[in-house]
Amino acid sequence: MFCTDGRYTTQAAAEVPDLPTRVQRASAHELATTAAAERARYARTGFESQHVSVEQAASLTDAAGDVELRRSPGLVERLRAVKDEVEIDALRRACGAADRAFADLIAAGGVCAGRTERAVARDLETRMLDHGSSGASFESIVAAGAHSAIPHHRPTDAVLEPGDLVKFDFGATVDGYHSDVTRMAVLGEPADWQREIHDLVHAAQAAGVRAAAAGARTADVDAAARRVIADAGRGAEFLHGLGHGVGLEVHEAPSLAATADGTLAAGMAVTVEPGVYLAGRGGVRIEDTLVVRESDPEILTLSTKELVVV
Ligand code: ZN
Ligand code: ZN
Repeated sequence: MFCTDGRYTTQAAAEVPDLPTRVQRASAHELATTAAAERARYARTGFESQHVSVEQAASLTDAAGDVELRRSPGLVERLRAVKDEVEIDALRRACGAADRAFADLIAAGGVCAGRTERAVARDLETRMLDHGSSGASFESIVAAGAHSAIPHHRPTDAVLEPGDLVKFDFGATVDGYHSDVTRMAVLGEPADWQREIHDLVHAAQAAGVRAAAAGARTADVDAAARRVIADAGRGAEFLHGLGHGVGLEVHEAPSLAATADGTLAAGMAVTVEPGVYLAGRGGVRIEDTLVVRESDPEILTLSTKELVVV
C-alpha cells in the first residue's frame, strides 16, 4: 500500500500505478490501522524505527492494537544496498552530471581569487542543473584556505585568496539517485605542505579503492586507506570514516568505517573518501563514488584526482 497526502495524488497515480494508494497524511497511523484490521496477516510488523519520531511511535502503538510492532532499523536500507544495473545507470548519470559541472567550472575560470565560497558553490550547483541534475545531492561544500580543514564546512562569504587550497564536495541527483564526489584545487603553485598532504590522501584513496572488492570486510577497506595515512604519521588528522553507501539517499548502507561490521557485495555503491585536516591551515579530501564489482571496482566519478592548479 502506498500512503501519501492530497498534494501528491496525481503524481502517485503516475509513478506508483501498481499499488493500492491511500490518500492520508498520517501514513504511519494509516498503515498500523490496516495491520490491526488484518491481524492474522500482520501479527508481527516491523517498522523503520530510525525514521520515526517519538510522537509517531506513540501514534503507531495506539493504532496497532494487538499487532506486535518490532523496531527494524535499517531493514529496507539493507535490502537496497546492492543496486541493480538500472540503479547503477542512474548513479552513473548523477556522477557524470557532477563531473561535467566541475570541469565546466574550472574551464570557465569560476575558481579564482576574489570570489566567495558561496558564489562558487552556487555556480557549481547551477552547472549541475545544466547537466541534468534535478538538484544538488546535499548542500555543496566549497571550503577555501583554513576552511578546507573543516570536514563539513558550509560555504560562507569568505573570499578565495591566492595560495588557498579549495575543497569541493558536491553531488548531483538524477532519477532520485545521488552522486558524491570531493576534489581539490589550489590558487597558484601549491606549497610543499599542500602538495605533501594531497599526495598522501591521493595514495590513501587509491589504496581504499583497491581494497573495495566484493567479499572484503568494510572495516578492512577503511584500514587499507587509513594505514597509508597512519604510516606517514598523520593518522590523527584523518577525522572520519572512509566512506558510505550512496543511492536513493546520499548516505545509506553500508558504512565503511573502522567500527563498521559488514561485508561488501558486488553491486553495492559506496564512496571512498579519506582526508587529512591540518586545523587552522588547510585540509585535503579526495572522494569517489564507485560500484563494487567481482573484480576491480567501477569508479563512477571520473574528474581528475590531481590537485587542480588554477
Ligand atoms: Zn562528499
Ligand atoms: Zn561522502
